[in-house]
Amino acid sequence: MRVSNVFLVDGGPGDRFLVDTGHAAERPLLLWELRRLGLGPRDLTGVLLTHRHSDHAGNAAFLQRHGVRVYAHRADAEVLEGRRPRTRLVRGAGSRFAGVLAEVENLFPARLVPDVALEEGDAVAGLEVHWMPGHTEGSVFFRHDATASLFSGDTLLAAKPPLTLETGLALPYPTFTLSMTQAYASLRAFHAQGHAYENLLAGHGPPILGRARERVMALPELRQR
Ligand SMILES: [Zn+2]
Repeated sequence: MRVSNVFLVDGGPGDRFLVDTGHAAERPLLLWELRRLGLGPRDLTGVLLTHRHSDHAGNAAFLQRHGVRVYAHRADAEVLEGRRPRTRLVRGAGSRFAGVLAEVENLFPARLVPDVALEEGDAVAGLEVHWMPGHTEGSVFFRHDATASLFSGDTLLAAKPPLTLETGLALPYPTFTLSMTQAYASLRAFHAQGHAYENLLAGHGPPILGRARERVMALPELRQR
């Protein structure tokens, strides 16, 4: 959509999942895109959240009311449910625009009770769940082995934050990220484990098709130290 990406993993009736849901402000666009595919909310089986931020989880509660099951990592589920305190985002060294977006997230966070709390090593909708704490407490990667594709949320981006108008591989943006140190550590650990992928389907920016892992490994910030 305009702000962030929503992916449909379509295994047919009873096996249709969205990866992320977009911001609530983009709900009409989400419904229109679904309708173009001949689908309505009730045709969806579940929603898999890469993380709890409102530009990704913004329509999860709405879809849930239509009987769609929502999956999120346990740590982000606890924040979404209000059982774990929500850390305020602060602009820090980020741009003024990033500061505004951070304030929007602070004021209007996504709130819901996910149906399923995911854990590292789970499999759902044919995807492997990899816990990638850092951007948020419960950020995850979803890896699809058969197509060598990685859904990365905001832990790896395909557009330059904070505006995301310019495309290109990018690391999480500090203003929106709980701990850059932890995000980098998660990324180094994931890549050290050797999980293969060729295509990167990030939360923002166009799909990076082919050689994505190689390009990520070449980022200077991720060199093992
Ligand atoms: Zn985010």
